[in-house]
Amino acid sequence: MTGFVRSGRSLDADHEERCDVCVIGSGAGGAVVAAGLAAQGLDVVVVEAGTAVGRADFDMQESTAYARLYQERGLRASADKAIGILQGRSLGGGTTVNWTTCFRTPARILERWRSVHGVEGWDEASLEPHFQAVEQRLSIAEWPEALVNANNGALLRGGRALGMAVQPLRRNVRGCANSGYCGMGCPVDGKQAMHLTFLPDAVAAGARIYTDVEADRVEHDGKRATAVQCFALDEVRGRSTRRSLRILPKVVVSSAGALNTPMLFIRSELDVLGPVGERTFLHPVVVVAGRYEQVIGGWYGAPQSMASHAHVDRGPQRVGFFLEAAPVHPLLAAQAFGGFGHQEAEFMGQLDRTAVFIGLAVDGLHPDAPGGRVTRLRDGRMHLSYPVTPALIEAFRAAHGVMAQVHLAAGAREAVSLHVDPVRVGSAAELGRLDAAAYGAHKHAIFSAHQMGGCVMGADPQTSVVRSDLRHHQVQNLFVVDGSALPTALGVNPSETLYALGHRAVSWVAAAV
Ligand SMILES: Cc1cc2nc3c(=O)[nH]c(=O)nc-3n(C[C@H](O)[C@H](O)[C@H](O)COP(=O)(O)OP(=O)(O)OC[C@H]3O[C@@H](n4cnc5c(N)ncnc54)[C@H](O)[C@@H]3O)c2cc1C
Ligand code: SF4
Repeated sequence: MTGFVRSGRSLDADHEERCDVCVIGSGAGGAVVAAGLAAQGLDVVVVEAGTAVGRADFDMQESTAYARLYQERGLRASADKAIGILQGRSLGGGTTVNWTTCFRTPARILERWRSVHGVEGWDEASLEPHFQAVEQRLSIAEWPEALVNANNGALLRGGRALGMAVQPLRRNVRGCANSGYCGMGCPVDGKQAMHLTFLPDAVAAGARIYTDVEADRVEHDGKRATAVQCFALDEVRGRSTRRSLRILPKVVVSSAGALNTPMLFIRSELDVLGPVGERTFLHPVVVVAGRYEQVIGGWYGAPQSMASHAHVDRGPQRVGFFLEAAPVHPLLAAQAFGGFGHQEAEFMGQLDRTAVFIGLAVDGLHPDAPGGRVTRLRDGRMHLSYPVTPALIEAFRAAHGVMAQVHLAAGAREAVSLHVDPVRVGSAAELGRLDAAAYGAHKHAIFSAHQMGGCVMGADPQTSVVRSDLRHHQVQNLFVVDGSALPTALGVNPSETLYALGHRAVSWVAAAV
């Protein structure tokens, strides 16, 4: 079989495909599992709702990128609009626009999956060969301290001044020009995203990839999946053309990502069989900006190169959080800033001297941070309810305090929160202002770039959708190979876990063909 990447828009008639495996989605999980299956000689068809893009399309403009490469043109949000959700949507999924930070799954999280969720066979030793394989293919390596940009440099300097652990992190890059534009698609092919690595591997081994094609339903009889009904999408608004691509596979793999796999399963009436959409985790992010005398230029340089996990485990009574820097591109910054009018003009006017830290709360571990729930509205749209609970609010307050201290220790003139009425702190003596501020939904900016859960893995079909081998509890030839299978949030950026998950799933899926 000759592999290809073809747009569904080129289909001039309804089309049917037979294959061994249909993979829905071409992101971190889908690309890796598709490449592995094709390498074993299996006949693989991948459908991807987003468009095929490459370096020629990446013009380093936020206005182009968010509309073209992100879910809902970059405007996806929780149902109450309290949480902005950044999620990728193109060939390569989130990996095309992500910031390249790579971590292995922490041992304490794997142990939690075992002891609380009954997940078997996901320990460090079992995962080792899979991490090694993806690290080699994606050139995952520590970013040299000499190349750290001023934004991440402030996190390093301030953290170390406070005696807080801050470590360099690893990135999936080769020939990175340190431009800072990862979030808009890498213009020099330095980022080793899926459209440059595992997807070409899959095509070379014979996989057929259809872009601009959305899987609408997985047809099944409650025990076996029989078909994947897809539609081609139009060019301008990404709406269905009703041109049909019907796939008749032996095995179906959903790799549409968190939020999207649950939506596909709800459309397919798989939610009657298990808790689809429940326990959706976001690593909800809060932000504190630091205003410095010197130029920071936070849009230049690798977006993330330093992280602090000093507060990731705050004991069983409290939600943990970890700290990273975030790129300071103008549209993203303007959207995140909580104030209006002259306040926003003043904030944007000093953007070149602004460093930005993010605090990512680890949901899904504490009983009062159970995550959110995906359901479907009558008109077909996604509805994500995500309660910002007292335990999360406590973590947001604590994270604000720590981030402000780090900015001040790094030499910032002031630390500024992203509250609707921003809180400004110019010295340690003023930190009480942040403590006294209100936290929670609609009080300040909250984001997510790490969606997880919603079709979680576990031993009990009452509380999980797939087994430890990622196979659906009831539908024997249906697998979930993406972020939605994770039983909790990770406390680290998720992409490397999902590459390894895709690699690990190959033998399980192949055995089901
Ligand atoms: C701006 C940004 C920065 C990030 N930075 C980092 C980082 O530095 N490090 C890190 O570890 N993580 C980062 N992430 C998160 C990381 O990229 C994701 O966790 C990861 O890509 C998720 O992988 P996945 O396989 O679950 O799904 P995705 O990679 O999201 O892929 C799912 C694909 O399925 C497609 N799809 C959805 N529904 C359908 C359907 N019905 N039919 C056909 N196709 C469908 C989507 O278009 C998408 O392309 C970032 C994310 C964003 C948005
Ligand atoms: S920082 Fe490196 S990987 Fe990211 S867009 Fe620039 S060149 Fe590409």
